[in-house]
Amino acid sequence: MSERRLIIAIDGPAGAGKSTVARHLAAHFGLLNLETGAMYRAFALKALRCRIDPDDSEGLHQLAASTDIALEPTRAGNRVLLDGAEVTDLIRDAEVTQAASRVSVHPAIRSWMVDLQREMGKAGGVVMEGRDIGTVVFPDADIKFFLDASPEARSQRRYEQAAGPISITASSDGSQENGKAQDEVTRELHERDERDRNRAQSPLRPAPDAIVIDSTSLTLEQVLDRIESVVNEKLARAGSY
Ligand code: C5P
Repeated sequence: MSERRLIIAIDGPAGAGKSTVARHLAAHFGLLNLETGAMYRAFALKALRCRIDPDDSEGLHQLAASTDIALEPTRAGNRVLLDGAEVTDLIRDAEVTQAASRVSVHPAIRSWMVDLQREMGKAGGVVMEGRDIGTVVFPDADIKFFLDASPEARSQRRYEQAAGPISITASSDGSQENGKAQDEVTRELHERDERDRNRAQSPLRPAPDAIVIDSTSLTLEQVLDRIESVVNEKLARAGSY
């Protein structure tokens, strides 16, 4: 068995429940939860602040060279630091959400982020959540999940977050959808999905060895039961990590 501790990858589209599941899983198995979307969000916030267009590949590349992004996992979620200052709440803004989707298309930005993420996760003992963890960041992760749900269910969950914690994604990566009409939430989610699935570098797709879970008609408890039993089985087979 390798020296490295367990790495669990959780990928999937926005609104599928990844953050909630990753947080529960990390708490249950005593692992660190690393939320990679927060890193793209923090960089998008910086681009917005510096008035660099999220489609300006060269401008973003230069900006990245003077940007420091760090995640501090806590039981409640990730504290996000941008150039040493906490931006945990600021990055949930709707404008940042859209900009994060756009900055993450650029290959140079992705390579930079992937290097950072590999460094953060290299010792193992982590649940890393994102879009390309099982395919690109840690293709040799011990267990890979791809969490999906129908576009209707995902946009409904996002919409309902405004009303309180009633669904699998409630209080999770909670982009601030409050006050938006449901069709606007649906349209923005669709736009982000399309960008994630169709970009040239590391498009969103399940790794060939990922366990795909469609949570459309499952409760959070049912999803967690499934995932925890897979992890328990793996741990039992491996002895320990
Ligand atoms: O997961 P979250 O919605 O917070 O991610 C914000 C954006 O960052 C996503 O819309 C996605 O385009 C991008 N992302 C990515 N690769 C990751 C994590 C997030 O491209 N590993």
